[in-house]
Amino acid sequence: MLPIARGIYGGLVNITRNSRGALHTASAFRCKAETSTADAESPEADGEDNSSSSAPDPKDRSKVIPVETSMRYLKSAAYKQTYGEDFVWTQYRRNHKGMYAPRKTRKTCIRQNRISTGNPCPICRDEYLVLDYRNTELLEQFISPHSGDVLSYSKTGLCQKTHLRLMVAVQQARDSGYLTYDVPFREYDYSEYYGQEQKQKA
Ligand SMILES: [Zn+2]
Repeated sequence: MLPIARGIYGGLVNITRNSRGALHTASAFRCKAETSTADAESPEADGEDNSSSSAPDPKDRSKVIPVETSMRYLKSAAYKQTYGEDFVWTQYRRNHKGMYAPRKTRKTCIRQNRISTGNPCPICRDEYLVLDYRNTELLEQFISPHSGDVLSYSKTGLCQKTHLRLMVAVQQARDSGYLTYDVPFREYDYSEYYGQEQKQKA
């Protein structure tokens, strides 16, 4: 029994050694190839390195996206694929302890040009959604079709800072004519007014 066992064990050891050795050499070769190519490319790769190192960080918000890009994004296929026919905030859900959400949303999602939370609000999470008075397609998603008012942050889940920026952008858009709005209609009883004037004349 013993010699057979030894034989099997020895064979196994050999196999593992061989496979390990082979793997090791293969990985070493890959490493060598990578280092050699990296060495060859390193003088040119400086510019690319900066872009590639900033791209993998999904929480970085230091890049300023122009409004025109955001407006094109809202009409693009990428936007359709992400949100479909829904509003930007429809699928968003707040995280909170207990059954009831806190009355106010968080103060801000972005601190020092970086997302500081795991569940950023609908506008902060997508860096191509730029709040601006010209970006009416985005602003209209936050305006109630029934009352014409800006929807509450308790419904949309926006952080306080972004909600304030939204209010400012909507007001600017209304002031500059990008968004139309209705003035509340009042009915006056003109007969009373004319009646008084005629009385004064007479
Ligand atoms: Zn936010």
